[in-house]
Amino acid sequence: MTNNTFFALGLTSVRLKIIKKLNYTVPTQVQAEAIPSILQGKDIMAAAPTGSGKTAAYALPLADLLSKKDTARALIIAPTRELAQQIQTVIKEAIQDTFMQTALIVGGKNMQGQLRKLKQKPQFVIATPGRLNDHIKRKTFGIEDFGFVVWDEMDKMLELGFREQIEDIFNRLPIKKQSMMFSATYPKRVLKLAEKYLNNPVKIFAEEVNKPNQNITQKIIKIEGNEKLKKLTELLQEQSKTGKQILVFVKTQRAANEISIYLKRKGFSVITMHGGLQQKIRDKNLLDFRQGLTQIMIATDLAARGLDIPAIYCVINYELPQNPEEYVHRIGRSGRYKNKGVSYTLIARSDRADWKKIKEFLNN
Ligand code: AMP
Repeated sequence: MTNNTFFALGLTSVRLKIIKKLNYTVPTQVQAEAIPSILQGKDIMAAAPTGSGKTAAYALPLADLLSKKDTARALIIAPTRELAQQIQTVIKEAIQDTFMQTALIVGGKNMQGQLRKLKQKPQFVIATPGRLNDHIKRKTFGIEDFGFVVWDEMDKMLELGFREQIEDIFNRLPIKKQSMMFSATYPKRVLKLAEKYLNNPVKIFAEEVNKPNQNITQKIIKIEGNEKLKKLTELLQEQSKTGKQILVFVKTQRAANEISIYLKRKGFSVITMHGGLQQKIRDKNLLDFRQGLTQIMIATDLAARGLDIPAIYCVINYELPQNPEEYVHRIGRSGRYKNKGVSYTLIARSDRADWKKIKEFLNN
């Protein structure tokens, strides 16, 4: 049994007021289990998929812990710039009306601006591993005084090839620290890191991972490869009538660009999201989409993880992901928290082998 009120979790009344303001009524499972352990100073390793409320699960107790000691600092590391930005928003909510500050250390942004912010010794630093390591190597930023570290989406960071940087960061952090590791899945390489660097962690396997969120209705459409674009147009016509937002996943940056141009010509309100776009444009597109200025986003797997946009109702897999796990993450962009969602997956003859792998992954 887990707690079904925030009151019993040990948070301060300041934080309880903020929780009320955010309209969180009951804690999610990962919050109910992680918050008391974090407040007690324990290391944790939690299996928490996106949409489980994991960000607030560490942001709220850390806000309480750091507000009690003005030299305490927390470093939060996330795989992508977009996720780091989203985390910063949640942290800012959790520390509103306090003396505490945040800084964001991500690639694609002006280093001077980041350095200016770091000089003010903000309590919360949210970083991507690549840019953080750049700063460490150039000795423009030291992490020796960070007594709290959060790893958000560790599986994704390892998948992106950041193992060396991650180990380097762990080794430079003070010996006496509290570490919190969150990962959607726990393959061997994540477990190995946890074993090496965490100190007797409380294990939280709150949700069933590797399984799609039950709020999402999954639909499969078997189709000839050359009919996909026509089918996509039909689906978008039908889905855009709901007035809710739609996310379409493709495999390559080129396909994202081409399909976006095609759909714009057809009169759809579309933006594009992939790693080949300048960071400025990525930020603007994401903001436009988040604010509902455009209804449809065409994206590569860059947008598969972590993005939390409650208005996304429909996810369309125009092409299948390279890696079966990404399927769960992609469709998990809809059905956020307790909303309903729907996903459509277009499967041509040439996709069958990849689809089989996804089905095997889901049934395991
Ligand atoms: P996350 O898994 O951290 O990306 O959070 C998913 C979404 O759930 C975010 O939109 C949060 O604002 C929302 N959320 C987190 N915790 C709660 C809660 N206890 N009650 C209601 N909404 C929540």
